[in-house]
Amino acid sequence: MKRLQGKVAVVTGGARGIGRVIVETFVNEGAQMVFSLDVIESQFESPNVRHVVLDVTNREQITAFVETVKKEFKQIHVLVNNAGITRDALIQKMDEAMWDHVINVNLKGVFNLTQAIAPIMMENREGSIINISSVVGEYGNIGQTNYAASKAGVIGMTYTWAKEFTRKGAAVRTNAIAPGYIETEMMETVSAKVIESICKKNPLGRLGKPQEIANAVLFLASDEASYVNGHVLSVNGGLRL
Ligand code: NDP
Repeated sequence: MKRLQGKVAVVTGGARGIGRVIVETFVNEGAQMVFSLDVIESQFESPNVRHVVLDVTNREQITAFVETVKKEFKQIHVLVNNAGITRDALIQKMDEAMWDHVINVNLKGVFNLTQAIAPIMMENREGSIINISSVVGEYGNIGQTNYAASKAGVIGMTYTWAKEFTRKGAAVRTNAIAPGYIETEMMETVSAKVIESICKKNPLGRLGKPQEIANAVLFLASDEASYVNGHVLSVNGGLRL
């Protein structure tokens, strides 16, 4: 039996990077349908994937999307809030637009999708929400005031929803994953020198791979994690040890 057999899932930022690998992993694990939401088109073709061009900051688009899915499938079993961006600068050089953009996508985007989808899960009394935070949300990072605030905020929402969505016996679990530094296009803005020093500090001596995050997401999405709720799983090779 595959771990997501017959499940309906929504993954934001699913066109590339970690999100794309999550989508592929869900399909390989038997998901009936994976909705991959992104502002860009995806090249990944499968009868079990539907790509929807959608901006997580656009509440009208989200409402229309959720209504359509609800009519056709009745249930959404898994929501992965993965879409995220960076606009880095030291605080002195971080203008308001940089702050607003990162908070809108990384924090409010998670609020928007969850507010629209959690009621469906609550109605059906089951579901798994996985929020992608970051090691930067746990411990901070120079030049990432906006990103750290957004990712720490995601952890706060995770703890809140782990309590809020399990009231009256509903088994809607909410967890977060805090990846360390992962080999995706997001890391292309980081210099080779900084990457070398990140790897030196890491007990495993390397960056993580998108599949290593997708494996953790799969665990939290599946029934194997049926008693895991309100947890932040650090997947960072031991970076902080
Ligand atoms: P990528 O930049 O590779 O992919 C993110 C995807 O999200 C892109 O396709 C992007 O589109 C899309 N996206 C951006 N804005 C929106 C929006 N408003 N609505 C819908 N989709 C959007 O990122 P990663 O795969 O590296 O990161 C995935 C998640 O993991 C993010 O939340 C990130 O913060 C987190 N993370 C990543 C780490 C890493 O080292 N890579 C470390 C820790 C956490 P576009 O191409 O247009 O930007």
